[in-house]
Amino acid sequence: MNYVSTRGNAPAVDFVSASLAGLAPDGGLYSPETFPEIARPGVSATYPDIAVRILKAFAGDSLDEEIIRGLVDRAYAPFAHKSVAPLTQVGPGRWMLELHHGPTLAFKDVAMRLIAQLYDHILGERGERMTILCATSGDTGGAAAAAFAGSSNVDLVILHPLDRVSPTQRLFMTATGASNVHNLALEGDFDGTQAILKRLLADEQFRRRTHLAAVNSINWTRVAAQSVYFAQAQAQLGAETRIRFVVPTGNFGDALAGYVAARSGLLTGFECVAAVNANDALARLLEGNALTRGATQPTLSPAMDIQLPSNFERLLFEAAGRDGAIVARAYDQLAATGKSDLPKEAIRSLGEMGLSAERVSDAETLEEMRRTHAETGWIVCPHTAVGLAAARRGEFPEGAIVTLATAHAAKFPETVEKALGVRLDLPERAADFATRQEVFAVGPMSEAFVRDRIDSIVRGR
Ligand SMILES: *Cc1c(COP(=O)(O)O)cnc(C)c1O
Repeated sequence: MNYVSTRGNAPAVDFVSASLAGLAPDGGLYSPETFPEIARPGVSATYPDIAVRILKAFAGDSLDEEIIRGLVDRAYAPFAHKSVAPLTQVGPGRWMLELHHGPTLAFKDVAMRLIAQLYDHILGERGERMTILCATSGDTGGAAAAAFAGSSNVDLVILHPLDRVSPTQRLFMTATGASNVHNLALEGDFDGTQAILKRLLADEQFRRRTHLAAVNSINWTRVAAQSVYFAQAQAQLGAETRIRFVVPTGNFGDALAGYVAARSGLLTGFECVAAVNANDALARLLEGNALTRGATQPTLSPAMDIQLPSNFERLLFEAAGRDGAIVARAYDQLAATGKSDLPKEAIRSLGEMGLSAERVSDAETLEEMRRTHAETGWIVCPHTAVGLAAARRGEFPEGAIVTLATAHAAKFPETVEKALGVRLDLPERAADFATRQEVFAVGPMSEAFVRDRIDSIVRGR
């Protein structure tokens, strides 16, 4: 199984290389050369069984099944729920896919724990040490910090936008106490941190010198790991059931994972509603507007305060008939002018592929938190509420509507209090975080600042 760049101008690499590289050398994202046809799991398959089957298909010859089984078992052992991603019914024909049973209470744990196991395995075998860079809108940083804390093969450098993450999100990524985890709070928004990460990775010399890799949602292993819960939901709801997945969307990692599951034969089809907050570039794009790099607007669902969803590039690659030149042109134009007109046929084919988008405002988010609580007794996080609000729109009598519950409500106690007037404490498995010391450095949103920091970390080891 080989991986090619979405910009069509880099050599194909195997699964392990794609995972370690993060970004392809031409600035594109790695996608499988062809999608495997993966047999659908039965209803009795366990989460680790499904994960092994899917990862083996995407890893091809580059990892043995036995090794994958070990990585998967270690990654998912600390989850608070045995099925890792249980389905909960929230109404007639409507379900919630709970992805927040990991150690840092958001879905990012699912893929990040697997990546950490994979990296430790590969680097341990090669006797190498790497610097891993991670730009986060809030939850990826915490998941990475928890997953890599104490690893003897990795220095983790997390970039987060200063004051744009919730205090609890920040706590998870700054209070691990591990000396190999470094956190930088940059003055600006998430898109800025992501742009710095991409530029540093594209600097071949710097990348080699510091042994740099990225574990953002652009990392293919994350996408593959996240496709597992889509497959499990399909298996549990019945092999023939049509499912509309409603995905609270920021960087488009989860939505893409759904597409990948469908393309690999694991779903009855691909019907995906990307639920977005006021940062609605994706919705505007699907309405036929240009892709633009506007300023992000802070909302009550901060992990989705992203204007340019990175992983969208992979779906665009498919919509453009896998013509890397079209994708490269679109993103070059965007980089040069802040705006890019995608070919009309590509946009039309995105719709035909089964993707749509729904916008949900902050007021609607709070209202949905109250309504879900009144109807079911569940307290949901604001991101999940964006999805649940979108899920109420439109009828779907012929199938099941599954909304991804992307984080635990206790990660956003301020917003829960605003909506419901109650104060949530962290669940017991995470409670001791609240007593720990936070460590992070504040700096400008500048490539030079991050570069210097990484150089000094590498010199110091
Ligand atoms: C990351 C995140 C999202 C957005 O997911 P993407 O895969 O980036 O689209 C939504 N909700 C929560 C809680 C998140 O942490």
